[in-house]
Amino acid sequence: MNEHIAQLVAIQAIDLEIDKIDNAVKSEQNRLDERIFALAEREATINELQAKITSCEQETRTLEDEVADKMSHVRERQSKMMQVQTGREQTALLKEIEDAKKNAKENEEKMINLMEDTEKLKVQSEEELNLLKGEKKLVAEETENVRSNIEKIKKGRKAKDTERNKQAKKIKENTLRKYNTLRDRRNGLAVVNVISGVCQGCFMAIPPQRFNMLLRGDTMFDCPTCQRIMYYTPPIEEK
Ligand SMILES: [Zn+2]
Repeated sequence: MNEHIAQLVAIQAIDLEIDKIDNAVKSEQNRLDERIFALAEREATINELQAKITSCEQETRTLEDEVADKMSHVRERQSKMMQVQTGREQTALLKEIEDAKKNAKENEEKMINLMEDTEKLKVQSEEELNLLKGEKKLVAEETENVRSNIEKIKKGRKAKDTERNKQAKKIKENTLRKYNTLRDRRNGLAVVNVISGVCQGCFMAIPPQRFNMLLRGDTMFDCPTCQRIMYYTPPIEEK
């Protein structure tokens, strides 16, 4: 293999390992972020439940006040009953009293329903709070794990960086620039093998003429489709 290509193949092997290290760091961080996000979601659920409880309790108090008003109205009307003279006035008062009592009873039923709802919401909120407490503890432990994992991973990366710099010095500047640009634009893969006339970067066939020249192994070629730098390694013969 052409020596320039061999150097590029070598640096790419290092770069791909560095990519793997960076991805491992990202995935550790993502795993933790997902759990933190889940915590925030549970906190939001609890806040919603609390708001519902507050509004139920407020509504209950309003109904309670209304019932008290109605009942004092009933008492007031009842005492007036003693003073009225005509049957017509009496009938009107009785109706008023009945209506007020009916209203008060309706309110009381509403209040019972509301209190039952409030109880259920409180139980639910309590459960969520307990879950949150447990999860917070787990996430704290997880944060510690992720931090130490990332630290370990990054130590390995430092060694690879040194190796990479050493390898980069062996490559001509403009070739290295081309390689770096290709890696940026082609998903990290700049140098590719060609197997049976097919580019292993984009999996398109290359013209047979070019493949024949590549087989000689002394020149660098770009894939006509994906522009990656191509190389050819003869298949290992099985014994
Ligand atoms: Zn290609």
